[in-house]
Amino acid sequence: MKETFSADEIQILLVSLRFSSEKHRNQRRKDPEASPYINHPIQVGETIWRVGKIYDITTVMAGLLHDTVEDTQTTLEEIEEHFGLEVANVVKEVTDDKSLPAAERKRLQIEHAPHISPRAKWVKLSDKICNIADITHNPPKTWSLNRQIAYLDWTEQVVKGLRGCSVELEAYYDQVLKEGRHLLKIREKN
Ligand code: ZN
Repeated sequence: MKETFSADEIQILLVSLRFSSEKHRNQRRKDPEASPYINHPIQVGETIWRVGKIYDITTVMAGLLHDTVEDTQTTLEEIEEHFGLEVANVVKEVTDDKSLPAAERKRLQIEHAPHISPRAKWVKLSDKICNIADITHNPPKTWSLNRQIAYLDWTEQVVKGLRGCSVELEAYYDQVLKEGRHLLKIREKN
């Protein structure tokens, strides 16, 4: 993968970050401080680039935009219009069908994981890494410990289907999961 990028590539990356920040502007994360939602897509984009060393602008843009269609009013047509079909397709692959019940969406993520594109796998794996780190270091205020443990277990099922996409991201996921379980175990005892 190339490691130098044109002004146009950096520009479209920044435009996608701005677009995502505008779309998520009224949302907050579920942590006790109710952090701005945009922190999460930024973490996902940064994980893809820094940890995964995936120097692919399309993937990082999809990482920055990955929750816009699922969690805001944004449509895939809008993503395509602003950022092209390649980015829109990756976002589509990582977007759950919100008309389905939560348990069914979770089951489908496990089922679909092995069949999505490499770009979608990198985004999905980075998303799971960031969510585990958030949940274990800064648990959502309304989540019981059991729900936190169940979330970690579920990500393991999804990630099983993503393996083989990135040595770096998989090793980091394993580390974050291990640390997360350790933290939750300590919390369980207290
Ligand atoms: Zn996400």
